Amino acid sequence: MSKSSKKESNNFEDKLINLNNLSKKELVQRAKTFSKQYWVGDGENFKLNDYETKASFNLGEEGKPLVNQTLQMGVEALAAMQDVLYAQDKWSLLLIFQAMDAAGKDGAIKHVMSGVNPQGCQVSSFKAPSSEDLDHDFLWRCQKHLPERGRIGIFNRSYYEEVLVVRVHEQILKGQKLPEKLVTEDIWEERFQDIRNFEKYLSRNGTIVLKFFLNVSKNEQKERFIERVDDPDKNWKFSATDAKERGYWGDYMFAYEELIKNTSTKKSPWYVIPADNKSYARIAIASAIIHALDEMELEYPKVDDAKRAELKAIKQTLLDEKD
Ligand code: ATP
Ligand code: MG
Repeated sequence: MSKSSKKESNNFEDKLINLNNLSKKELVQRAKTFSKQYWVGDGENFKLNDYETKASFNLGEEGKPLVNQTLQMGVEALAAMQDVLYAQDKWSLLLIFQAMDAAGKDGAIKHVMSGVNPQGCQVSSFKAPSSEDLDHDFLWRCQKHLPERGRIGIFNRSYYEEVLVVRVHEQILKGQKLPEKLVTEDIWEERFQDIRNFEKYLSRNGTIVLKFFLNVSKNEQKERFIERVDDPDKNWKFSATDAKERGYWGDYMFAYEELIKNTSTKKSPWYVIPADNKSYARIAIASAIIHALDEMELEYPKVDDAKRAELKAIKQTLLDEKD
């Protein structure tokens, strides 16, 4: 979908929720329609430039409560669905978040998952690899954190860094202790293949993988960096490295475009989420997760007649208790 056609459909009424009297089915349907705009699916003809960074609801200050309420509804729907996922204990969901610094990964994870039972959700952050990590293949450290059945796993950065920061700074690749003859110009294509195969393997085993690129503009990143310098409570979030990486913006965008083109599939899709507006991004992410959970056709486990009779008898015993 082109940028302009996306803008045309950017109508709050169309996409969002008439918050009163909305059935679960309708909510899921709206979540699907809304998130579909950012769904890459099969990445063959993917161009990052076709995806906007700046989408917002354009409702002004008075629209804020409505936007917050919408996110809250999304969060509640997600929590209810996760409860069934957990009870059913068959599928699992892996959510991968990738972005440039200050795009809002941490905030999105915090808000979107805020209603979810912590027992059913595991967040893992992947920073620069340790020497133990470097003694293994590149998927190793992430495999250890894959979600169990019935759980949602969240990766804050992931094995995709292996075709991002490692591609942008090739000296990192040199430090990876790979046998020299394995490091050829085909290495990025080989890594894409390995990732595709890995995600296919996961999906065949009941783990649905959704990947989110929080697409922030270079200008918005500048504003957020300046805020991190100006606001003492945000100073801790900012480092000179972040500012330095900004200098490689073009290289990162090239690497993102390549990896999304090569690793987005219908079963394990990328979503390119406009991230200049935080509330909008969070609603889009929640919508995509609701969509994926709905596709799993989750159901609470059903008990057989014998078990139901047993439960009834227990209830009767409880009711018959004298004190
Ligand atoms: P924050 O929001 O706190 O800044 P962050 O995810 O940016 O969160 P940092 O500690 O600032 O966390 O950065 C982690 C760094 O680790 C990133 O620069 C990232 O590119 C780098 N990193 C992650 N995986 C790898 C990898 N496999 N090889 C090399 N560097 C990596
Ligand atoms: Mg950082």
